[in-house]
Amino acid sequence: MNSPQQPPKEAVGITIKKSDDFSEWYTQVVMKAGLADYAPVKGFIVLRPYGYAVWESIRDILDRRFKETGHQNGFLPVLIPEGLLSKEEDHFAGFTPEVFWVTQAGNSDLGERLALRPTSETLAYSIFAKWITSYRDLPLKINFWNTALRAEIKATKPFIRTSEFLWQEGHTVHATEEDAEQEVMSILSIYRELIEDHLAVPAVRGFKSDKEKFVGAKYTTTLEGMMADGKALQMGTSHHLAQNFSKPFEIKYLGRDTKEHLAWQTSWGVSWRLIGAIIMVHGDDKGLILPPKIAPIQVVVVPIHKDKDAQAVKEKAHEIAQELKSAGIRVHVDDRDEYTSGWKFNEWEMKGVPLRINIGARDIEKGQVEFVRRDSRDIRDKIQSPRTDLVKRTNELLEEVQESLFAKAKALLDGYVSTPASYSEFKSIIEGKGGFARAGWCGEPKCELAIKEETGADIRVIPFDQDGMPEKCIYCGQAAKKVAMFGRAY
Ligand code: AMP
Repeated sequence: MNSPQQPPKEAVGITIKKSDDFSEWYTQVVMKAGLADYAPVKGFIVLRPYGYAVWESIRDILDRRFKETGHQNGFLPVLIPEGLLSKEEDHFAGFTPEVFWVTQAGNSDLGERLALRPTSETLAYSIFAKWITSYRDLPLKINFWNTALRAEIKATKPFIRTSEFLWQEGHTVHATEEDAEQEVMSILSIYRELIEDHLAVPAVRGFKSDKEKFVGAKYTTTLEGMMADGKALQMGTSHHLAQNFSKPFEIKYLGRDTKEHLAWQTSWGVSWRLIGAIIMVHGDDKGLILPPKIAPIQVVVVPIHKDKDAQAVKEKAHEIAQELKSAGIRVHVDDRDEYTSGWKFNEWEMKGVPLRINIGARDIEKGQVEFVRRDSRDIRDKIQSPRTDLVKRTNELLEEVQESLFAKAKALLDGYVSTPASYSEFKSIIEGKGGFARAGWCGEPKCELAIKEETGADIRVIPFDQDGMPEKCIYCGQAAKKVAMFGRAY
């Protein structure tokens, strides 16, 4: 056999440290791990199969939970007539700067401009109004797996902020305000489960301020994460729309009391931005690290052999993989001859596969397998285990990786929460290490705005946990009404 051809290392590996240039590091991970690529139009990206597989993991988890909680999937067209989009005034005013418009069909000018959906409230509700007549039609709980288009003017970043993004948008209609409020919270808890228990990213739950809420909502609940560079990221939102849309769209139902009532509504969504959060929170200088629960490949088996042992070692590698597969573990055997094992190690590390099994002639002889955890402090750490314990040990290690990624991310978040005693301390935190500044707020938008103008930080979340509220607003010194987490964000 010819010796394997190796492309120069610097051409394929991550060439910048996460701590040296976070932004460049992030882009390299996205591209080199094979998650996404740039599209011909600025602000848009192409999802590659590996990135799509991560999205599918996320989608499958949510889809199952949505169905378990009584939601059904539907489909909506991408075009929304301007007349519909503008029916709820605040909503229209808020989205106008981000809307892509279609003005022509072939060579003919359209009478009315058509928006490429920035979100589907208006379109969905114009239809829901036809479907709902009686209390028997409620609740209506529909989810759409689609994309949204928003012409992003702020700096775009793959996954985090793109002009078209994959997401799900849920829309529900209820008979009472109480039912709608319960739905908002129940969805937020499904998002928490996904984000913390599966993606291993801790997030702070709470409300958005009126300035930051979804335009058209009565209030927005959010899960706010903290990235490794001290910038916050909105991970998911669940909105209470009250009757703000049911009024203009006339979503009414005949109650048991035989009177007509306006319905109560919610909407909620998470996007592929979550993939960006996984990269930013867990990744390291070698590339991506995927939490086992959502990794498309949880275990990669690499046969290590000299020419004379090749056949036997490869067979053993496939036998191991088969056993893991039968136990429901997502496994891949990398038995390519064209690459050395060192090359393969680097590649799978870059792609973030949580666990690797090395198998060589010596391991076969000894009746053992050798594991390497992707997240271990020293990647050369090797864990030997009897071959007979293969499935049990693999499951244990995957669980350990999952837990230790969460613990590390939790420590990162906690380390980024500060409680400044004065506005000057607040400013030096925001301008220095960053993160969340947990501070008292009088509730006035003018203080929120002034802070944003002076420091670039806004209220990311008004946490549900309001413990330890300071007496005064960090900006104006008036009595504080709330504790808010301020920060710069993506
Ligand atoms: P919203 O409808 O603005 O509440 O957003 C719904 C979800 O999509 C939230 O989880 C946002 O973080 C996410 N999202 C909003 N805009 C973008 C974007 N331009 N690119 C990726 N994700 C986004």
